[in-house]
Amino acid sequence: MAADRELTELPGVGERLAGRLLALGLRRESDLLFHLPLRFEDRTRITPLNRVRPGATALIEGRIVHQAIRYGRTRMLTATLADDSGQLGLCLFRFFPSQLKLLAEGNRLRCYGEVRLAPGGLQMAHPQCEPLSEDESPPLPESLTPVYPTTQGVSQAGLARLIQMALERLRGGELELQDLLPVAAGNPGLVQALSTIHAPRPNENLAALLDGSHPAVQRLALEELAAHHLALARMNLARARQRAPELEDAAGFTRRLLDGLPFTPTGAQRRVIAEIQGDLARQRPMRRLLQGDVGSGKTVVAAAALVTAAAAGRQAAIIAPTEILAEQHYRNLSEYLAPLGLDIVWLAGKIQGRARTEALERLGGSAQVAVGTHALFQKGVNFRDLALVIVDEQHRFGVHQRLALAEKGKRGGRQPHQLVMTATPIPRTLAMTAYAGLDISVLDELPPGRKPVATVAASQQRRAEVIERLERALKEGRQAYWVCPLIEESEVLEAEAAETRSRELAAELKEFRIGLIHGRMKPAEKQAVMADFSAGAIHLLVATTVIEVGVDVPNASLMIIENAERLGLSQLHQLRGRVGRGSEQAACVLLYKPPLGETARARIEVMRSTTDGFLIAEKDLELRGPGEVLGTRQTGALRFRIADLERDGELLEQATVVAGKLSAGRQDLLIDRWVGAAEQFVDA
Ligand code: ADP
Ligand code: MG
Repeated sequence: MAADRELTELPGVGERLAGRLLALGLRRESDLLFHLPLRFEDRTRITPLNRVRPGATALIEGRIVHQAIRYGRTRMLTATLADDSGQLGLCLFRFFPSQLKLLAEGNRLRCYGEVRLAPGGLQMAHPQCEPLSEDESPPLPESLTPVYPTTQGVSQAGLARLIQMALERLRGGELELQDLLPVAAGNPGLVQALSTIHAPRPNENLAALLDGSHPAVQRLALEELAAHHLALARMNLARARQRAPELEDAAGFTRRLLDGLPFTPTGAQRRVIAEIQGDLARQRPMRRLLQGDVGSGKTVVAAAALVTAAAAGRQAAIIAPTEILAEQHYRNLSEYLAPLGLDIVWLAGKIQGRARTEALERLGGSAQVAVGTHALFQKGVNFRDLALVIVDEQHRFGVHQRLALAEKGKRGGRQPHQLVMTATPIPRTLAMTAYAGLDISVLDELPPGRKPVATVAASQQRRAEVIERLERALKEGRQAYWVCPLIEESEVLEAEAAETRSRELAAELKEFRIGLIHGRMKPAEKQAVMADFSAGAIHLLVATTVIEVGVDVPNASLMIIENAERLGLSQLHQLRGRVGRGSEQAACVLLYKPPLGETARARIEVMRSTTDGFLIAEKDLELRGPGEVLGTRQTGALRFRIADLERDGELLEQATVVAGKLSAGRQDLLIDRWVGAAEQFVDA
């Protein structure tokens, strides 16, 4: 069988590009073929210039009969293209000398772009242009041109070239992809399905290809669902053989913990604690996901699990993705667990020297609970008897990192119990499959007395009013966040934007101390800024989206989010969760740049009308679809490349049936094709 090559073996793909392609989930040549287009461009025919219509996208051909540079607010290059039928304006708002040359009078060009009605007549702005020789026009493609989702550092043209190359090799039989599922009569085989998807004829049903209802896409979705079904069944089989220590709270630690709290646990907290303790009492390793909105009180639940392991005479560890968060856990847990007099060890990268040696000694001996960062699962850290691992904000850890910690609890074929916690609410329908194999608990009740964050939207034009409001709040001794999210897909630009904004705000609000935090700062710098903010030494914190996860500053009760129209619902929700943690009525201002698109308007409306994370997640799903709801931030969760649970729900049953009928060899191939390394799946 012809080899499915690694991407680095393809001409023109080095380690760097391969690394970037991996970010798109592309590892092998066959993966390229399962990367579906976002849309298609029709470059199969040339539209005569007297037939182009405003609003339409067209391929046109002609000769430049006029060129000029206009000087207005910016320099603009305009040109007129003519063919036998008529003329059309071209314009470039920003241009390079090479473009000036390309659009010189007398040149023949082929252009592709959107036509619109400008004051001077019909016009194509920023067309893609290809120079033509005097007497010859290259042949037109016979199929439509796909446009693919791509990522930073991977050009559209480069990606399309790789995919077309893979498709050529597939059609030519050099790359062989076996049809692993029986092909039903009237349905396309794999090669035909992939050809249709990546090189559709102009008369193909494009709407169906794009919304996924086309038989070519459905065929792939069915394969993928079958592969996941098989992988899941294997995982369950492997898990059924695993053993874990039974952890029972015979000493009554949980009751003492709960009785000692300064508040009464909510019904949801009690219910989830019982669910977890039910798991811990079994000989099978717990694999449970705890979903709970920001502020729902997951830490108390974690505490109950930790003391249960301690009561059973064993050790438990909880890790958080950053030192700030881990330290916050250490503080809170020390307080919660104080009545029990347990030995709690704190470990993070910054703990060095004697303190570290001492911490390591206790982990190997007297420690009952460990709290820390990934420092806890590094080499040289050994536990006496680690029986429970809790991971907070699990999506911030890679699968491998989590496994490294679990590894420390392995003893003679015995596995530690695992609990992962997340504040990113995922609708149940998605969670079932995205976290296949994990049992799910939900904290669906907030502690009483929380006042929902009052949320308003304001156009950028009302910035002055917003600044006034901010100043009033700061004068009252409150603290605030000013968030400048992604303006371009670049951390560098994002950091720059935040820096500029913090300078501007510092000039406008002279009496107050303005801090700045962004993703390009070193961890120690970020920590110092957060510590100052926590202590009240910084009044206004200008931030990029790095503040998104888990930091608790109860006195911060106002948040202003710039460019709110660019953020997704779950991100807005996570950000807003940073305020409203104290007794003050908190507020959030969503600053947007008009005009608002339909989806952006809908998102802002949702944010104004509710603070319920699950409701927001459901709306997010409606507005964006599941692929994006899970998004790249959910690494470690299962994601589908092609199948869509909302859309393809009815394929699930069929997938189960066909999967079951396959030979073991085909099952292996199918899992390998769609799910990849199966052992990653087993312990995830
Ligand atoms: P999260 O789920 O976001 O991790 P935390 O565990 O940090 O939430 O809890 C948020 C805040 O709510 C903390 O200050 C905590 O002390 C408080 N809290 C937790 N449970 C309750 C409860 N049942 N009643 C009142 N306050 C609670
Ligand atoms: Mg938390």
